[in-house]
Amino acid sequence: MLKNDQLDQWDRENFFHPSTHLAQHARGESPNRIVTGGSGAHIEDRDGNKLLDAFAGLYCVNVGYGRPEIADAIAAQAKELAYYHAYVGHGTEASITLSKMILDRAPKNMSKVYFGLGGSDANETNVKLIWYYNNILGRPEKKKIISRWRGYHGSGLMTGSLTGLELFHKKFDLPLTQVLHTEAPYYYRRDNLDQTEEQFVEHCVAKLEELIEREGADTIAAFIGEPILGTGGIVPPPKGYWAAIQKVLKKHDILLVADEVVTGFGRLGTMMGSDHYEMEPDLITIAKGLTSAYAPLSGSIVGDKMWKVFEQGTDEYGPIGHGWTYSAHPIGAAAGIANLKLIDELNLVQNAGEVGNYLNAQMHAALDDHPNVGNIRGEGMMCAVEFVKDKDSRTFFDPSQKIGPQIAGALGQKKVIGRAMPQGDILGFAPPFCLTKQEADEVVSKTADVVKAMDFS
Ligand code: PLP
Repeated sequence: MLKNDQLDQWDRENFFHPSTHLAQHARGESPNRIVTGGSGAHIEDRDGNKLLDAFAGLYCVNVGYGRPEIADAIAAQAKELAYYHAYVGHGTEASITLSKMILDRAPKNMSKVYFGLGGSDANETNVKLIWYYNNILGRPEKKKIISRWRGYHGSGLMTGSLTGLELFHKKFDLPLTQVLHTEAPYYYRRDNLDQTEEQFVEHCVAKLEELIEREGADTIAAFIGEPILGTGGIVPPPKGYWAAIQKVLKKHDILLVADEVVTGFGRLGTMMGSDHYEMEPDLITIAKGLTSAYAPLSGSIVGDKMWKVFEQGTDEYGPIGHGWTYSAHPIGAAAGIANLKLIDELNLVQNAGEVGNYLNAQMHAALDDHPNVGNIRGEGMMCAVEFVKDKDSRTFFDPSQKIGPQIAGALGQKKVIGRAMPQGDILGFAPPFCLTKQEADEVVSKTADVVKAMDFS
């Protein structure tokens, strides 16, 4: 076994890490962690630390670490048939079975699943499918996609454009021109503090209508949104938001894409986030929770309305010109089947709802009164604590103070992993669904200890 110092050197010399301060990492100025194992809600590193991972990796290890059922399914598939492609009608028992299992769990009016590898490529697929759809319908001008500020939809060219966070645009010449951004449904950060939640929803709707009016509805193809904003700050939508937005989209014949990469397969205590908020999407993006990250796999679930047009398109123009070598990879599909079975057998969707509510309630009880905690919010197994300089005037800290990262760092010292969300001083939690109430108590008590010990001046 290689020693830590050897690996540390190789890491800093050879490995280009995503979302990392590259220069500091290469110079050895920022810490690294070499992860060696995991079980349930915990991971272990090479230095012998055992940490409670209250962010489930990147909100993806939903069934928890170290599940032999999924590892065995992957091994069995690899031995039997590690790979065959899915082009021109080919498939495997695993990929076919998994598509059926996904549709059994999807909202009504969904028709087929296209498989990819990660959330970003699934959303790239979605944009192509939306453009194809409007071209087949003879509406070549109807192509722009509306996304929200603070939405997260990936970091490819198109998906990085859809993502509404500065960090993902800065110095990358993004967003591309086909993408438009509208108001984030983030009530706590509303400009007008006198607005009620209902008035704020009206404001979001008015902003969307304004944008559609300005651009022309005949140029706008689709609206993409996460049922609850994830990386943008873990923000549940204000009451009535999705119903009001869907009304506008229907009126202008604009497709709805529900990006369920985080919420799909149980995170909100319902199988899909669309069920939770009564969304009726035309396309659904799935990834992370589909395999609980035991193997890379994503999907685009296509609704009946679009599917019919795709059939018409291939009758007119021949086979669809879209596919990846690894679409519907059998090892990913085998992991997906074992994962979805485990979620059912262990009642994990219900547990995500129950323990998630408990986690949120305890976080409120522990920190609502703290003078620098401005807002605690969440839904199901998602929770966020937002820090402010002054609670009454809702004054935020200067980002250079790095309050969020400092708090997440101090929590890590106490062996609990939370995530400093990228825009604002927001500490996020999205634990595995198997979290117990005792583990939730540990997350809350250590968070409260860190926050109370923090120098906010
Ligand atoms: N969509 C959402 C809602 C996400 O949260 C993410 C990743 O966090 C993505 C898409 C992109 O997924 P990936 O990182 O697998 O490309």
